[in-house]
Amino acid sequence: MSKRDYYEVLGVSKSASKDEIKKAYRKLSKQYHPDINKEPDADEKFKEVKEAYEILSDDSKRSHYDQFGHTDPNQGFGGGGFGGGGFGGFEDIFETFFGGGGTRRRDPNAPRQGADLQYTMTLSFEDAVFGKETEIEIPREETCDTCNGSGAKPGTKPVTCKHCSGTGQLNVEQNTPFGRIVNRRTCNYCNGTGKEIKHKCSTCGGAGKVKKRRKINVKIPAGIDDGQQLRVSGQGEPGVNGGPFGDLYVVFRVREHEFFERHDDDIYCEMPITFVQAALGDEIEVPTMHGKVKLKVPAGTQSGTKFRLKGKGVPNVRGYGVGDQHVIMRIVTPTKLTEKQKQLLQEFAEVSGKVPQGEQEEGFFSKVKRAFKGD
Ligand SMILES: [Zn+2]
Ligand SMILES: [Zn+2]
Repeated sequence: MSKRDYYEVLGVSKSASKDEIKKAYRKLSKQYHPDINKEPDADEKFKEVKEAYEILSDDSKRSHYDQFGHTDPNQGFGGGGFGGGGFGGFEDIFETFFGGGGTRRRDPNAPRQGADLQYTMTLSFEDAVFGKETEIEIPREETCDTCNGSGAKPGTKPVTCKHCSGTGQLNVEQNTPFGRIVNRRTCNYCNGTGKEIKHKCSTCGGAGKVKKRRKINVKIPAGIDDGQQLRVSGQGEPGVNGGPFGDLYVVFRVREHEFFERHDDDIYCEMPITFVQAALGDEIEVPTMHGKVKLKVPAGTQSGTKFRLKGKGVPNVRGYGVGDQHVIMRIVTPTKLTEKQKQLLQEFAEVSGKVPQGEQEEGFFSKVKRAFKGD
């Protein structure tokens, strides 16, 4: 059974003056005095009122209670007494209300991992395909050399914060429809560190950390793609109280290529060919990320026909083989014809008739004819 709130016991508001508290105590102590009141729970109530008055009538005990609520009196008011499991009272209430978890206080002196950092790196299309080793410079917090991270001027030491007794947390009580709820917030006097620095280190201004630009070697794996990230372990910000470093996440942005287009591990490109090459067939040279490749274009190749160059794509970033390059044929219709060319094409047309040649095309053309008939 958790303890009732002292203000509630006395029936006064949290901002009640000393006089109001005294008056309420006199009234209630008379009401519940075991000599006067013979109800079975009067004795309990009397004790409760007495205890509430003892705390709320004493300035320092009251302010401590305002911050921490009910605490084990044996633990006193010194620092460090609240880190363990001896925290009774409202911790339980708190868990009943919010299901516990996540709201538990953190010991400000416990080692904590440093924050993770993120760095965005823009890569050329080529560097993403083949990977590379590079050096980046990131601004990150490092332990101050002057004070070794304590934040205190050399020769001095930080002391326990008196506002939060070293817990780094303050409790704020609120009245809600469910009753009085205690919310914790980071102590604003010590910023949650639980320590107060009387003489601040002049190098870091008491932060214990300084911003430094640090060079980090990053090995970009071949096949990395736009939007993917790489975790560089232990290159984030330094930990607190001797905790480990955070991690650095390098997020990649890959620039577009003017000729190639990438889809996962495959590369696509369009190759322009003349209608003569398409009709008669030819051997053409196709650029790939791995150098020029000869490609045989068979006679009668249609625009849009796709050819696959196996293994000429992007190496898989996890090492599962290499993608392909897909080459799409684009037949270019000539726009500026000489008289001679026109004449030859006219002749060609007379010989061929107006229906395009080739089986596939005939099938297509008969569909067009049917469409006209139905008009
Ligand atoms: Zn504090
Ligand atoms: Zn310093």
